[in-house]
Amino acid sequence: MNIILLGPPGAGKGTQARRLVDERNMVQLSTGDMLREARRKGTEMGKKAGVIMDRGDLVPDEVVIGIIGEVLEAGDAGGGYIFDGFPRTLAQADALGELLEKVGQTLDAVIEMRVDDEALVERITARATCKDCGEVYNDNTKPIPADGKCTNCGSTDIQRRPDDNEESLRTRLLAYYKETSPLIGYYYAKGDLQTIDGLASMDDVATSIASALR
Ligand code: AMP
Repeated sequence: MNIILLGPPGAGKGTQARRLVDERNMVQLSTGDMLREARRKGTEMGKKAGVIMDRGDLVPDEVVIGIIGEVLEAGDAGGGYIFDGFPRTLAQADALGELLEKVGQTLDAVIEMRVDDEALVERITARATCKDCGEVYNDNTKPIPADGKCTNCGSTDIQRRPDDNEESLRTRLLAYYKETSPLIGYYYAKGDLQTIDGLASMDDVATSIASALR
């Protein structure tokens, strides 16, 4: 089963994707994580993407389509792909359809995680992430432990993303409404869309996703 988690930054896509990886052996394809990894490695593409990401703008379609194409062609789908943060434009959505067809796969569901803007700003500006396992912390609801060690994997490498500040977030939200939200209509028209309340507790959101996938 291949699915897309669709939603604005801070909707909880990454958190829910990691649960699906653990519970269903699915493969998380987060273009944001892949771009951050390219940046960390210091590749030419990573450096260029990093400047764009810090501003909160979208990286060019051909870059992310290229990254996803390589992974799909390598072909280790495990229990299915979870597309997290991809596609983000109509051109990317068209390309994803073509890429999946090329490798003999289908898209089974698109889950829109709906969260209001106020909650997003609160979540993102309070967010920190474990670099080693992806565990997400929140200053208000799940603070970083006093000893600085990740509760999931014990790593001390818990960091805030450079683009998790109010100014970049504003740009990222604008990009979401302008470029990505048209995908809601696009997938609705194809009969693939399911919308869930992303503001509920983590467990309740996971339950909604599980029933949407049934
Ligand atoms: P994310 O981790 O999904 O919030 O992505 C972080 C940043 O990476 C975004 O603000 C964009 O600059 C870039 N990015 C990630 N995925 C895409 C995509 N599918 N298309 C364009 N830019 C992307």
